[in-house]
Amino acid sequence: MDFPLVSYRDPLFSVLMLLAIIFVVSYANYLWGRYKKKSESKNLDRFLGSFEVAKNEKDYTGLVHSNPEAIHSMMLLGSIYYKSGDYEEAIKIYLVLLDNVKEKERRIEILSMLGKTYHKAGFLHRSRDILKESLKLKARNPEVLKILLVILERLKEYNDAVDVLDALEELGESVTLERSFLDAFVIIEDARIRDAVKIERLIEHVNEHPHTAHIIIEFLFFKSYDKVWDLIDARNIPFLLDILWNIAPKNMDNDAAEKLPLLQEIFTAKGWLNTASESQTFELDVLIKLQDKKQIADLSFEYACGSCKQVFPIYFHRCPGCLNVATLKTEPILTRHIPESELFLGGM
Ligand SMILES: [Zn+2]
Repeated sequence: MDFPLVSYRDPLFSVLMLLAIIFVVSYANYLWGRYKKKSESKNLDRFLGSFEVAKNEKDYTGLVHSNPEAIHSMMLLGSIYYKSGDYEEAIKIYLVLLDNVKEKERRIEILSMLGKTYHKAGFLHRSRDILKESLKLKARNPEVLKILLVILERLKEYNDAVDVLDALEELGESVTLERSFLDAFVIIEDARIRDAVKIERLIEHVNEHPHTAHIIIEFLFFKSYDKVWDLIDARNIPFLLDILWNIAPKNMDNDAAEKLPLLQEIFTAKGWLNTASESQTFELDVLIKLQDKKQIADLSFEYACGSCKQVFPIYFHRCPGCLNVATLKTEPILTRHIPESELFLGGM
């Protein structure tokens, strides 16, 4: 018997059948998706739930012993704690793993993560020692060498840092910028070099590596080196604005100011000269125009990383956020003048 409206030979019947099939397949897919999502969520809950009982080293040890497969999951959990900033918990996990894992590759991984976590938690000496242990198992490890370099710099262990830099260079890493800063620190911190020789070497260094100007010029002002003004030019003044703003009045140099309009702007904004009437730098311009209402405004500084965009209240040659070197840019900020702020670099 023919269907009253459409017969199976009718093209309309074929279209309806096709639509019906599409509907059934789509609905089945939808149900399968829901089931999968539920199942994944249950698995994740089960995974995290298995660690809820682990509140101390003993519990974590129990987990490793009960199931060797748990090592991978614990590594994952350690990295979750590390990324979320719970370094104490991450360290607990890595220490337990270190005690219980014998496989070399895995131990390298655990030592690296433990060293990184100690670094983030501020335990620099422990971090250094753990990373050195990791390098004993695998010396050609650029990731570990890079972190160790940062730590040795912070600990001012510059000679060891130079060795690490050499190792990185041997592995084909570009270390030119890092080396230029490290060489400057080696000279500055070497107590065996007389000041006169030190200054001579630093002048040579800053001429060859202008991006090290901030640390070197600051050091030369600190040493009250009278020829420091010879090193200051129109190119590096914007990077040294914070240092020049904070020098003692007695350290101002009229001859240098005469040659460099930007220096005149800085010293006019400070109220030490009256030779500049305006500035292209907005903050200096405002301060110059406020000169008749002396000492109501001042400058403070912040340092923005051009790489990771984080902002810091003090200058670092290496960004504390992304660990890149020479990425911080000096940014002036207009602030209210505080009369007590008379801490000048180089003394009154
Ligand atoms: Zn950065």
